[in-house]
Amino acid sequence: MDKLKLTGKKKIIKVRDLEIGAEKPIFIAGPCSIESEEHIIDEANNLKKIGVDILRGGVFKPRTSPYDFQGLGYEGLEYFKKAADNVNLPIITEVLSEDDIEKMIDYVDIFQVGSRNMYNYSLLKKLGKTNKPVLLKRGFSATIKEWTMAAEYIAMGGNEDIILCERGIRAFNDYTRNTLDLAGALVAKNLTGLPVIVDPSHGTGRRELIGPMTDAAIACGLDGVIIETHRNPDTAISDAKQTITYSDYEKIRGKYL
Ligand code: PEP
Ligand code: MN
Repeated sequence: MDKLKLTGKKKIIKVRDLEIGAEKPIFIAGPCSIESEEHIIDEANNLKKIGVDILRGGVFKPRTSPYDFQGLGYEGLEYFKKAADNVNLPIITEVLSEDDIEKMIDYVDIFQVGSRNMYNYSLLKKLGKTNKPVLLKRGFSATIKEWTMAAEYIAMGGNEDIILCERGIRAFNDYTRNTLDLAGALVAKNLTGLPVIVDPSHGTGRRELIGPMTDAAIACGLDGVIIETHRNPDTAISDAKQTITYSDYEKIRGKYL
């Protein structure tokens, strides 16, 4: 085995004045997709009041159907940055293609690599050459070895500011969207030393499970959560069933303030 860079030594990632992987769990929240300028301004203003550390919002959306809404692209990214700057919050959004890294880099605080792109080694290698933190989601059929080695692809280039995200894996379950593998998340944390957060939204696909799975993730020592919110979840353009209201988010968040 070649010499690994991620050896299990505990790493804390700094994003502005936040420390990810330190004592306090990090809360990332926001819509699955940014739908309009007015929409993301509303999300940013409301989540800021309730308590959020980092805003999430998709502008390049990897949808199952190519005919479904694909995100607002760079126009959405402009709206996102403006809305977040207004309330002084950092942002995370998914980078789908390595061709977008250079253009996105001045906007984002953290690059998100989605589940579908965990095996996109050329994207990972290119992110490894940047100086921005990367949130690496677990591929939905990835083993722990494949996931931690994907992180190694980023680290290899010199960028060790990596946050892992367990977002559920495919099993035989037909009631939840995915099966949230908290034990696997802990194993990945111990093996790499990186902070590991949990996505209970994609991990379950069901609103009523977001609170309990957040509590479970924090209880077992993981480093935070990323949660999908919307002012009117049933009308969300994507992932409505797993999206929660601001007030439900506030109840979950409030326990850890
Ligand atoms: C997302 O967080 O918006 C997303 C698409 O998640 P995943 O890559 O885990 O499916
Ligand atoms: Mn989503």
